Amino acid sequence: MSSDQPQKWWQKPFTIMAQCYEGMDLPKSNEKVIKLKKSLGFDVEHWLGSSDQNLGDIGGDSGRNYNFKTRVGYKKDLLKDYLKTSKKLNHKMIVYLNVHWFRPEFGADKFIRDARGGNVTGYGSGNLVCPAGPFLEWAKIIAEDLGRYAIQGVFLDGPVYRLCYCESCKNKFKEKYGIEMPENITHASENEKKYLREFPVSNLVNFLNCFRKAFNMHNPEGIIYHNGETLSSPGFANEAAIEVDDILGSEGGFLGYDPLRTNFFFNTSATAKLLNSQARGKPTVVFIDYGFKKYDYYGHPEPEIGRMYAETIANNANPWFLWYELTPGTKIAVKMNKLIQENREVLSNTKSLAKVAVLYSGLNQQLTAQKRKISQDDVHSSLKTNTIELSGNHFDAFMGIYTALTRSQVVFDLITEKNLETKLNDYQLLVLPQVLAMDEYTITAIKEFVKNGGNLIATFDTSLYTAEGNKRDDFGLRELFGCNAGEMAPTTMIDYISADNNNFLTNGISQSRIPCPPKRRYVKPQKYSRELMFYYKEMPRRYLRLANISEKPAALLNTYGKGKVLFFPEEIDSNYIEFCFPEERQLISNAVNYLAPRQLKFNKGLNFIETTLMQNEKGQILIHLINLSGAERPVENIIPFENLEITYKTGKKIKNVYAALNRQVLKFKILKNQIVITLPKLDHYEIVVLS
Ligand SMILES: [Zn+2]
Repeated sequence: MSSDQPQKWWQKPFTIMAQCYEGMDLPKSNEKVIKLKKSLGFDVEHWLGSSDQNLGDIGGDSGRNYNFKTRVGYKKDLLKDYLKTSKKLNHKMIVYLNVHWFRPEFGADKFIRDARGGNVTGYGSGNLVCPAGPFLEWAKIIAEDLGRYAIQGVFLDGPVYRLCYCESCKNKFKEKYGIEMPENITHASENEKKYLREFPVSNLVNFLNCFRKAFNMHNPEGIIYHNGETLSSPGFANEAAIEVDDILGSEGGFLGYDPLRTNFFFNTSATAKLLNSQARGKPTVVFIDYGFKKYDYYGHPEPEIGRMYAETIANNANPWFLWYELTPGTKIAVKMNKLIQENREVLSNTKSLAKVAVLYSGLNQQLTAQKRKISQDDVHSSLKTNTIELSGNHFDAFMGIYTALTRSQVVFDLITEKNLETKLNDYQLLVLPQVLAMDEYTITAIKEFVKNGGNLIATFDTSLYTAEGNKRDDFGLRELFGCNAGEMAPTTMIDYISADNNNFLTNGISQSRIPCPPKRRYVKPQKYSRELMFYYKEMPRRYLRLANISEKPAALLNTYGKGKVLFFPEEIDSNYIEFCFPEERQLISNAVNYLAPRQLKFNKGLNFIETTLMQNEKGQILIHLINLSGAERPVENIIPFENLEITYKTGKKIKNVYAALNRQVLKFKILKNQIVITLPKLDHYEIVVLS
């Protein structure tokens, strides 16, 4: 945005308190309620538009019991007085509106239908509504009515983004694409599949657009945003919706569903990173729930909530926090809110200084939708238009790379296919974790990047499939990898890789004979590529004398134009998330640090400190440090790090260094173009600010 325009409140860091539910122990007067919320460090609140959800045996809203004046039906205009007090106390209000989950009496014509015409329930009770049907007209009325209040905005919980076979959808589909909506997805043609994927996205964007127009009719300054796609979803709906939304939000802090030790450890930070890639410069929000899903009234312990908050702030996202009552765990949320409020200017308009980008492939997530394994509510399991089996697993590989880089204290961002063209040149290195399916456009963009001096790391069968999931004869990126696909080796659990050759990749490795991941490819190296590691010959059985080392490479280095490419023909990344062999982390870390020199170094805390590196408008550098220590999850307590030395390479003249959370001036020394800072103690989180 241009600098002569004053910044809107949502373009600076903010803290949102989630809607309060029936049964919460709150003061009786509006003034006391708002003062309480402010005292907890919240700038904005989500205010519940209807209390139906928590009452009655059947889940969802009735659609006629709102807490504000509306033509669709209201109980009592509670909003008018509340808003008046809110204004007086300089508090901000966003009305929470459920637009996905309603009771049967709401009207059968508005419900989502499956291919056989049946209703679709959400959270086990109540029906999901279709944003393309008569519900859209209904929503325009309530949007216009809400616009008559001088609230700061509306949060739309939903709208549902999935295939629907209601009458409206069937008619609209035919009108748009000229064919009947295919009922059997498995047998649909490639074109039909493409339409089936696009259709719900366009319905979602249309709903947001219509809602926004109606709301802004009387409240032109009001913002809208919605409950976006979660990590592991394709993300195309988020990338389309941000054209309309003012903020992009996702439930990156809804943890549980299964035992926490089986959850992806970096769910919150990966969500925040991904949102910032999808939002293309607009603000982002991570929804954090104090409760263990689905035991919604049972709170997570303090270290879990503290880490969710820290990973949100450290990755340039804003926290939204839901609590039902004050527990020991929620106290840390208050502390973190105040950290944001006290450092609002420092945290404003910060940009990541990362030189490494990891590709999160929406295409691969969409193609293999059935195989996703991340814990979440059923209302988020959106589009199942495919059942394609590819040779590897992009999401497992993504989690493996994410974990290996974070535990190796590497600073990195996420990038999506959609913003490769505009963002890729900001980076020195692109990492492709089993990006198996790849369209021609992406292949061209990556080739161009490497040709001009960008570096690349790729694993296993990256680029071996087309955008439709059909197998190519060879890697789409074969010229970059410096090898041809060759044969797939038999799946193994008893074979090895030799890291005996001394080179940058194997440097400092703790053992040179390491387990070979189950799936690998015997690639055919091209003339100029350099082989860095080799597979052992196949073991016919266990406890047989160890086989010899083969001539088949397990890692290759190639040059293409001005760039370098390191290729692992085995699934080293997905195997790391499964087995966590230290040497796999070391190899990934060595590869990354060779192709993009380390930006931050630490004297301790390998595997235990997550870090991000940011710069704000004033040129201040922010080093975020998150303590990952703790035993089995849910983590009960963490171990602090004392006298942590941080080395940062910079040509800038640094005059002052301080720790924002501890409110402490830090000692530092300058060595050539490096600054070495000593942090006396890292508890759960710290922001080191260099001015
Ligand atoms: Zn529909």
